Amino acid sequence: MTRHDEIAQGLAAVRERIDVACAAADRSPDEITLVVVTKFFPASDVRLLADLGVRDVGENRHQEAVEKAAECSDLDVRWHFIGGLQSNKAAAVTTYADVVHSVDRAKLVGGLSRGAQERGRLLDCLVQVSLDPPGAEGRSGCDPDDVPALVARLQEAEGLQLRGVMGVAPLGGDPGEAFEKLAAIAADVRAQEPGATWVSAGMSGDLEDAVRHGATHLRIGSAVLGPRPVVK
Ligand SMILES: *Cc1c(COP(=O)(O)O)cnc(C)c1O
Repeated sequence: MTRHDEIAQGLAAVRERIDVACAAADRSPDEITLVVVTKFFPASDVRLLADLGVRDVGENRHQEAVEKAAECSDLDVRWHFIGGLQSNKAAAVTTYADVVHSVDRAKLVGGLSRGAQERGRLLDCLVQVSLDPPGAEGRSGCDPDDVPALVARLQEAEGLQLRGVMGVAPLGGDPGEAFEKLAAIAADVRAQEPGATWVSAGMSGDLEDAVRHGATHLRIGSAVLGPRPVVK
């Protein structure tokens, strides 16, 4: 099977899962944006995805994303940055990213805002909320208690458009419970910023739970592209 056919098959399977999950939740698949996570996969896969109608791709490492976006600059795709971000890289991410899902602390806001203003267009931002139990190791994301203050910072920042929230279900935890918590936080954020309607939740293993709890953006890697190549 060619790589094109492999990816076409993965995509069809994921779109079918989304359709079934939407039907079960009484939602329309039109409410869902599929972001295909291409981290560790080559630019040639992004090209095949674009041929297959994918318009949104996600990356989680800055250096890899810069290079891939440059190789794919002729393609009509939106780049979503979904990974942990160092504050000294925040401005640089805006050179290619259209959306940053992983804004998890106020320290990132200055760089993102400066970069977006230099680029001369609004950058869509999501507040990444931690869904891990308090004190869990390696947690990423803003503590739920700190979300209102971060939202306020983003509302004030030039060049940034707060679009909503993002969350990753805890390893080994119940994704349904985690996404229910995220949905409640998303509602609070909408009360503060009515335009913040996006909920980025759900990966290959838990997209059904995410759709059930109101996700608008799914970040799907391996279910479309296969197991990630091993990195050295
Ligand atoms: C890698 C990654 C994904 C995609 O994971 P899969 O299980 O391959 O679908 C989604 N979200 C984030 C933040 C990721 O880093």
